[in-house]
Amino acid sequence: MKMMSYWLDTAKPFASAASGGPQGTADVAVIGAGFTGLCAALALAKKGAKVVVLEADRVAGAASGRNGGMCNNGFAQDYGGMVERFGIERANMFYRAFDAGVDKVESIVAEEGIDCHFGRIGKLKLAAKPEHFDKIKRSQELLARNVDPETQLVMPADLPSEIGSDRFYGGMIYGKSANMHMGMYGQGLAEAVVRHGGIVHEHNPLIGMRRVSGTSHELTTPHGSIIANQVLLATGTSRVGPLGWFRRRIVPVGAYLIATEPLPVELLDRLTPRRRNTVDTRNFVSYFRTTPDNRILFGGRARFSSRSDPAADAKSGAILRQSMLNFFPELVDTRIDYCWGGMVDMTSDRLPRAGERDGVFYSMGYSGHGTHMATYMGGVMAEVLDGKVDLNPWRDFDWPAIPGYFGTPWFLPFVGAYYRYRDMVG
Ligand SMILES: Cc1cc2nc3c(=O)[nH]c(=O)nc-3n(C[C@H](O)[C@H](O)[C@H](O)COP(=O)(O)OP(=O)(O)OC[C@H]3O[C@@H](n4cnc5c(N)ncnc54)[C@H](O)[C@@H]3O)c2cc1C
Repeated sequence: MKMMSYWLDTAKPFASAASGGPQGTADVAVIGAGFTGLCAALALAKKGAKVVVLEADRVAGAASGRNGGMCNNGFAQDYGGMVERFGIERANMFYRAFDAGVDKVESIVAEEGIDCHFGRIGKLKLAAKPEHFDKIKRSQELLARNVDPETQLVMPADLPSEIGSDRFYGGMIYGKSANMHMGMYGQGLAEAVVRHGGIVHEHNPLIGMRRVSGTSHELTTPHGSIIANQVLLATGTSRVGPLGWFRRRIVPVGAYLIATEPLPVELLDRLTPRRRNTVDTRNFVSYFRTTPDNRILFGGRARFSSRSDPAADAKSGAILRQSMLNFFPELVDTRIDYCWGGMVDMTSDRLPRAGERDGVFYSMGYSGHGTHMATYMGGVMAEVLDGKVDLNPWRDFDWPAIPGYFGTPWFLPFVGAYYRYRDMVG
């Protein structure tokens, strides 16, 4: 079993990184080469800006290249709850931003000719308990009426056409959702940035940032320094560099995945006839999809931890294998070829944050819903840097520090225990 991301192992590595460190000047320095940073850099380079990307490690080596491979439209939160909190107009505006994120991925893939198996296969949400299906029914009715006519209920009797498991009580389909190969997407984005004139430095962590004036900053890495007129932080759950203010607001939460050996097509036709992105309704969520080479990639919360290393990933991988067998007992003899983990950039309300602080721009906090929102916000932030702040859907959100939190999420085991209890009681 390989203890590494299937996506990173099966994509060509990015081959056009600039050597050495940054030097001279730039219009914009983008910090971080995940989907946010790469999509911002791409949009800026296409506008003719001199853009330099500084990446601490490798292109798409963090959440972007380690995720569950899903571009699911819709909220992570309950739609009704979002309407209660924000009113219907704003809730719908946020909902449509996630839709626009999936559209944006699709258009970049087409425009830049990125071969990453993008497909609109839809998302299937499965009720793990009978009462969850009642909630799904109410939610689908509201969604179809207000904002998403491409949702559809799956009655319990119709489940066999969607999933070869008898563990569920009905479900719902989000027709606009898509998936793709995340490693190939990340690599393709980075090559596109360079093709349009941008510069990408890998293995260049930002370790110093000094304000020169206004939005202009001098940025330092171990290999050089550069003066940029504008700076965009696209740093996810960063634990390196002068980003302490963000570390008090973003909680890194571990999420884990396993991938099986390639499976016979007839078996997949039985287990997941429509190959949808599939998620269940538990707080300790489980989800799966298939890969282009016919594996099942199965992920979930497994446990609430802020660690991802081979030991932590293996521990979670064993829990995930058991969850997968709860879905599909007939996979008991199936080999697991990959196991890995990554850090999700959680905010306290699970909604992104983006804007400007002390002359530095930022976009992060997608809370596990970021393949398309990061892509979308990359493009949006390129416009915000150009003065079009109204295009940012998250512009009016305040962002207080989490009380008692200074970068080590000591409270995660308690949160985990609370959600485990909620899953038990219904
Ligand atoms: C295991 C897992 C499963 C997920 N599953 C899904 C899913 O199925 N669907 C979905 O929509 N979302 C999913 N997500 C979330 C999604 O992957 C992220 O929201 C998205 O990739 C965030 O992109 P990003 O560019 O903002 O951050 P990242 O991809 O984390 O990139 C940030 C980059 O900044 C770099 N960096 C940090 N600090 C510095 C510094 N000081 N100097 C230079 N560079 C720095 C990092 O090295 C990193 O490359 C998942 C996340 C994880 C971890």
